[in-house]
Amino acid sequence: MQVLSTKAEFREYLENVRALGRTVGLVPTMGALHEGHLSLLRAAGADCDVVALTIFVNPLQFGAGEDLSAYPRPLDRDLELAEEAGADVVFTPTTDEMYPEPTLSTVHIEQLTAGMEGASRPTHFDGVTTVVAKLFNIAGPSRAYFGEKDFQQLAVVRRMAADLDQPITVIGCPIVRESDGLAMSSRNIYLSSAEREAATVINRALRAGAAMISAGEGDPAVIEEHMASIIEAEPLAELDYAVVVDPDLLITPAALISGTNVRLLMVAKVGSPRLLDNLGVDVP
Ligand code: AMP
Repeated sequence: MQVLSTKAEFREYLENVRALGRTVGLVPTMGALHEGHLSLLRAAGADCDVVALTIFVNPLQFGAGEDLSAYPRPLDRDLELAEEAGADVVFTPTTDEMYPEPTLSTVHIEQLTAGMEGASRPTHFDGVTTVVAKLFNIAGPSRAYFGEKDFQQLAVVRRMAADLDQPITVIGCPIVRESDGLAMSSRNIYLSSAEREAATVINRALRAGAAMISAGEGDPAVIEEHMASIIEAEPLAELDYAVVVDPDLLITPAALISGTNVRLLMVAKVGSPRLLDNLGVDVP
């Protein structure tokens, strides 16, 4: 496995791969790898000849007062896990390498970024789309793997690639969970043991919302209220949002339509970290 830290080396490595007629699977991450990230590497390995992992804690997507400096950076362990999961090349740039000049150009996606994470973290998505566009430009034509864990991010990146004709196929991969249902996250290490236990309420609330839909409830407001009430009953959890949305447009329909699919998205703070989770549901 090659570990490269300059844009020029990474670009050249992948250009050589493609010159040999091989395909590239790109997996952008911020490191602190867990099974969720490794599942993306394995999916890329199943589809593509060469798996390229990027590890970069992107300052542009952190707001003031967020955990940029505290964000875990266990690089040696990440490299071991990446190699085991089939990465062929890892790009680990410094912030100066990625942003040698103050950033005067950013990528902004309208509408899809307005609500949910965009409402709670106003500068977040411009930071994400700007760094992902840079990584796409450096890596060149590839298939890029993103987790459904960050469902809004996946929709935003997919739309960016389509709108800007980037030579990238964006692939969404299912959420990997702990055995008790908690979605894996690099931020779960911030949880105390009591908070870790309380955090399971998020997935339970989503499943309760899904059960209501399966039982015939068609009013999104009723489902959202029910999910919120489950979070509110857990003293260690503080709800940010619980919503029922169309999976492509990310807006709440007036009423659920039989035969469609909706996504339940939820964010709650448990202790210091904000925990994200979501679930797709077929409307009967
Ligand atoms: P991050 O390092 O948090 O920026 O995440 C990098 C990528 O891994 C993103 O595409 C995430 O959606 C994905 N990811 C993070 N956690 C999970 C998970 N539990 N299951 C599946 N994908 C995940």
